[in-house]
Amino acid sequence: MEKNKINQQKVYVSEEEKTINWSDVQGSFKKTFGSEIYNSWLEKISLVKEYNDYLILGVPTRFFRDWIVSRYLDKILEQVKEFKLTLNRIEFKIIEETKQSQEFIKINELNKVTEIKDSILNYNRLNPKLNFDNFIQGKSNDIALSYSKRVCEQIARYNPLYVCGGVGLGKTHLLNAIGLELQNDNNVMFISAERFMYHFIKSIKKNDMVNFKDFFRKSSVFIIDDIQFISGKESLQEEFFHTFNSLMDKGSQIIISADRAPMKLERIQERIKSRLAGGLIVDIDSPDLELKVKIIVKKISEIEFQFKEKINLSKEVINYVASESKTNIRELIGVLNRIIAFSRVHNKNLDISDCKRILKDVFSQIRVITVDKIQNIVSNYFNISLSDMLSQRRSRPLARPRQIAMYLAKKMTTRSLPEIGRRFANRDHTTVIHAVKTISRLSEQDDEMKKNISQIKSLLLEQ
Ligand code: ADP
Ligand code: MG
Repeated sequence: MEKNKINQQKVYVSEEEKTINWSDVQGSFKKTFGSEIYNSWLEKISLVKEYNDYLILGVPTRFFRDWIVSRYLDKILEQVKEFKLTLNRIEFKIIEETKQSQEFIKINELNKVTEIKDSILNYNRLNPKLNFDNFIQGKSNDIALSYSKRVCEQIARYNPLYVCGGVGLGKTHLLNAIGLELQNDNNVMFISAERFMYHFIKSIKKNDMVNFKDFFRKSSVFIIDDIQFISGKESLQEEFFHTFNSLMDKGSQIIISADRAPMKLERIQERIKSRLAGGLIVDIDSPDLELKVKIIVKKISEIEFQFKEKINLSKEVINYVASESKTNIRELIGVLNRIIAFSRVHNKNLDISDCKRILKDVFSQIRVITVDKIQNIVSNYFNISLSDMLSQRRSRPLARPRQIAMYLAKKMTTRSLPEIGRRFANRDHTTVIHAVKTISRLSEQDDEMKKNISQIKSLLLEQ
């Protein structure tokens, strides 16, 4: 009931405002996708023409379009639909870049961090807020932290320094802190592997590999975040390998982060893995209770300082939040922000039962859902074996559950279409796209399908 009401309101609003406000849509892209993906890709999309049920969006290159379509199209459509209910399709048009927006290279004199810039894309700059002073030490990150500091004292002694650990545990924070520390006396390059690839592809298209090579090879400290991203991308790996070797040869410090140890990286050339493992590997573990409490206390004092207000959270509440938040530090900070926002709005000191209510909401949204879990639950739900569901057989009783599982994998995880395809016995990403489309359509038209999807979703969220 509640949902219907909301939808009706939206219909009403969209009747009133027939044209879409693109900067609002962009704002919601930024929120949904995060600023990394937004700045690299989505910010470049422009609105070309609006029709009642579809939009034509402008993108700078064919590669750009393919990349967006294969990874983000569903979510983009979903987002834009929020602003335009009648929408059911998006088309892309390639709009040549103007001279003005072409990439140029300059050295930023101010902080000596080298940048490649163009009119829309900006480099991952170092974030002054992610420094050593506000990185809290605990048992889980002790070694990673102390070697990160040592690298700053003596360049190229531990080379490369490889920091690994799961999401939200502080890898980017540490890498950024190293960059800040070294930027005054060195030519620091700090880049995510995804952005590295973006520039790589762009340079190939523009026949400008010479500049690309020069640019990355002249840094004396090369920091590359989330290297697992180069997985499966052969030509990028080739380039990375040469960049890596040439930097090592000239004695530059290399610092790398990844979500797992070098030898566990998948679909990355062996010679790269062994290069990555050739220096010092430090890992960051999940935080223990003590560290979580310390981080909460520190965050509270930062917020109090920044907003000049007193935040009253009892020790008991702090302990409770710390012990309930089990996944990672990013989540912990998110939960804390929710609690603080709630206490502001209600202007009261929270007790444990308030927190329980707030957290129940939050945790049900951020529970980690994996492709494996989806496959297991879907095959159980339809009473078929997992191997049948993943097999090449095309009979409907197997094909439908398979498509539903692919659809949910796309909707409920952050995996890309090609990744999902691989997890389904190496199917092509176009098969996944077809499944997503089919099930999206059926779940709107067919009550049985609607019911199935919603029951499976709640099974997934309940666990
Ligand atoms: P990762 O790159 O490993 O996914 P991040 O470095 O982005 O994780 O960290 C997630 C969030 O948690 C960031 O806001 C970061 O500042 C914070 N954080 C992580 N570890 C610590 C720590 N030890 N002390 C303070 N903040 C931390
Ligand atoms: Mg990170």
